[in-house]
Amino acid sequence: MKIKKTSALMLVFLIVMTVFCSCTKNKNTPISSQHYVMDTVLSQKIYSSADVSDKAYKALQDEENRLSAFKEGSEIYAINNASGKSVSVSKETFELIERSVSFAKESGYLFDVSVYPLSRLWKDAIESGKLPEKSAVSSAKALVDGNKITLDKQNLSITLPENMGLDLGAIAKGAALENVREIYEQNGVSGAICSLGNSAMLLFGNKAGEDFKIGLRSPFKAETAQTFATLSLRDCVISTSGGYERYTEIDGKTYHHIIDTKTGYPAESDIASVTVVGSDGAFCDYMSTRLFVDGFNNAIKIIEQNNLDAVVVTNDEKVYVSKTLESRFELLDGSFERIN
Ligand code: ADP
Ligand code: MG
Repeated sequence: MKIKKTSALMLVFLIVMTVFCSCTKNKNTPISSQHYVMDTVLSQKIYSSADVSDKAYKALQDEENRLSAFKEGSEIYAINNASGKSVSVSKETFELIERSVSFAKESGYLFDVSVYPLSRLWKDAIESGKLPEKSAVSSAKALVDGNKITLDKQNLSITLPENMGLDLGAIAKGAALENVREIYEQNGVSGAICSLGNSAMLLFGNKAGEDFKIGLRSPFKAETAQTFATLSLRDCVISTSGGYERYTEIDGKTYHHIIDTKTGYPAESDIASVTVVGSDGAFCDYMSTRLFVDGFNNAIKIIEQNNLDAVVVTNDEKVYVSKTLESRFELLDGSFERIN
């Protein structure tokens, strides 16, 4: 009898403790984790009693295995190595390619997923520190033409002319965060930050009823991960593009990974970094890359015409903040100058 009473008390104590711990965990202490996926560091901070970080990590690994142009066995790899034959793909991959093709058209091919022959060339250059021959750049450039991607919706198949290729690197991270959002939703997470190398970030829900305060990295101090400003936001995706994270310096000139398909060379943009905020991860990721290639003046026009939420930093440390983000933006670094 005595034992039973003690066990009952013990049980009540455990229930109270569990409820108490999950409440405090939920509200104040996130479950933090780090992994490596999609060629970058994945950081998650999850405000929840259940740890779903592994599920999210696995979903991102699946995305990488399906979408990476550089991974043997991926659907994109199969398309790129089909020598002109059509390749059937999953519905998800088909739809992302279909969206990418329409983004390419609407951007006047500033964003072009057929960039693979050039992006592969410049990936090698960045990794080896050796410039490609001019002739190699012009032959690769001749193989980039987003108009020549044939989509067969009925059979979910893609056909490319021989030697052409797809690279979804500019949209895949943002798109993949949509799957992470679904996992958080299905597992009762109240709030979470899921960041892919700081270039694509999902803010899920909120932080105990408050906005998340996110630091924007200075494009001029990438090695120290210094932040120059903050954005207070919830329930959105944040995508940042810039030439400061993946690059090489040859003879005093910087060569980065975002390509101007019209020249075949890394885009000579006067933008140091551009951040786009929105509800659609794939769109934000596409848009930040597209605005970077377009340069500052055109980028501002596009942002204002389309009422986009965006922050643009120029190479000479000027900061433009869209009116829509005005009340959420705080500048921390005095060496930057607000221009609006
Ligand atoms: P990150 O991958 O660093 O987040 P982005 O989203 O801006 O940056 O995408 C850059 C990647 O997109 C490159 O590594 C390459 O794979 C691909 N890419 C480069 N130039 C273009 C372009 N003009 N259009 C579409 N994709 C591009
Ligand atoms: Mg992008």
